[in-house]
Amino acid sequence: MYSIAIDGPSGSGKSTLAKSLSKKLGYLYIDTGAMYRTIGLFAYRNGIDPSDGEEMSKHFDEIDIDIEWKDGAQHMFLCGEDVTDFIRTPEISMYASAVSAIPSVREFLLDKQRDFAKHHNVIMDGRDIGTVILPNADVKIFLRAGHADRAKRRYDELIARGEDVTYEKVLRDMEQRDHNDSTRALAPCVPAADAVILDNTGFEPEETLGKALEIIDGKIGILQEKK
Ligand code: C5P
Repeated sequence: MYSIAIDGPSGSGKSTLAKSLSKKLGYLYIDTGAMYRTIGLFAYRNGIDPSDGEEMSKHFDEIDIDIEWKDGAQHMFLCGEDVTDFIRTPEISMYASAVSAIPSVREFLLDKQRDFAKHHNVIMDGRDIGTVILPNADVKIFLRAGHADRAKRRYDELIARGEDVTYEKVLRDMEQRDHNDSTRALAPCVPAADAVILDNTGFEPEETLGKALEIIDGKIGILQEKK
């Protein structure tokens, strides 16, 4: 089994790249952010303070999370309900960021995430895939892009979904989430020591894909020779 870890902050182009790679290579794409978002949605709907670890832990029995793939797209299920369309709002982004700093929440998702890589060739994207979830991934790519590019991508994505947002709010929220995600004590969003850093500021998605394929080809080619 091969695993490719793609980490980086929001708007760095992780999911666009991971989806294209999944099509190209036929690997299973797992968006781990969607799992945190689904837990964030649970907290939001149940009036739970998303930063209250003790309170969140009391509800793990009720949080039944499932993933299904339909026409290549990942769908998230919360207690049997397809919640895919409800987890991308700015509010739920902030809830996801808050719940993701709770150690027991990360623990809750760790085995689920590792399990996928045991049974499939995977492309997994998130913040801690190369550092914590799959430390032995065959390829680790850490995506970076300038602030303005990242905020513009997020803004375009939200507008396309019909959200009522301004660019300034998207930029502010992004900076807040960056701060939360990179300074938290557990599994902060930092590159693994053996990750290849790919800065795609100003790139079109095809250029990022081309660079990533070069990286993957180099790494998996080397590994195949060794095996
Ligand atoms: O990638 P996405 O923006 O959908 O992730 C939502 C939130 O989930 C992030 O802001 C981050 O706090 C959290 N997350 C995480 N670890 C991951 C993936 C996402 O902490 N592996």
